[in-house]
Amino acid sequence: MQSLIDHARSFHQQVATRRGPFSPPLPDSRPQAIFVSCSDARVVPTLLTGSAPGDLFELRTAGNVIPPHRVGRLTAEAATLEYAVVVLGVPDLIVCGHTRCGAVRGRTSGRALRQAPTTRFWLLHTHRWRGIPERTQEDPGRSHLVAQLDKLRRYPWVARRLANGTLRLHGWFFDVETGAVWRHAPDTGAFVPL
Ligand SMILES: [Zn+2]
Repeated sequence: MQSLIDHARSFHQQVATRRGPFSPPLPDSRPQAIFVSCSDARVVPTLLTGSAPGDLFELRTAGNVIPPHRVGRLTAEAATLEYAVVVLGVPDLIVCGHTRCGAVRGRTSGRALRQAPTTRFWLLHTHRWRGIPERTQEDPGRSHLVAQLDKLRRYPWVARRLANGTLRLHGWFFDVETGAVWRHAPDTGAFVPL
C-alpha cells in the first residue's frame, strides 16, 4: 500500500513535468470510447489500449456484468452507460472480458462464492433472464461476454444509436497470461484475433 501512496503523492510532479508551465487548459472530456471491463486487477484498460488520460470512459464491475435493462430500475451501470452514450456521445462501446475470471467462475460454481452472497446473487440474478451456452472447449468467460453484449443491445439508447450507425459495439476477450486480445465476430459468433 505504501508504494501506492508514495506514487500518488508525487504524481503531480510527473504531470507538471509532462504538461509544462504554459500548457493550455485541459479540454472538456471527449473520450474515444466507453470501456466496460472486469474489476480484476490484472485487467488494466489503459495499458491494454495504450490510451492517454481523456481517451477512455471506464465502467468496471465484478465480471464485467451489465444488468438487464428494466424500465424504472436504477443501477450504477445503467447510469454510467447512459452518460457515456447519451451525454458524451462516445462513438464506440467496448466490453472486455478476460480469461480466468473469478466472477465468472463464481457464477458457474455454486461453492466459489459461498462467503459472498451479495456477489453471488448479483451474478446469478443478472443472468437468470437468459441461459448461457457453455462450450466445454472454451473459457466460459467468452459466452459470458456474449451475454453482456446481448443485454447492452436492449438498452434503448444503445439500440437507437446502433440502429442509426453512430455507435459501434465491440466484444473483446483478453488473455491475462499472454496479453492476447480476441474480438467477437457477431456475424459468425466466433472469436478471432483483434
Ligand atoms: Zn474478472
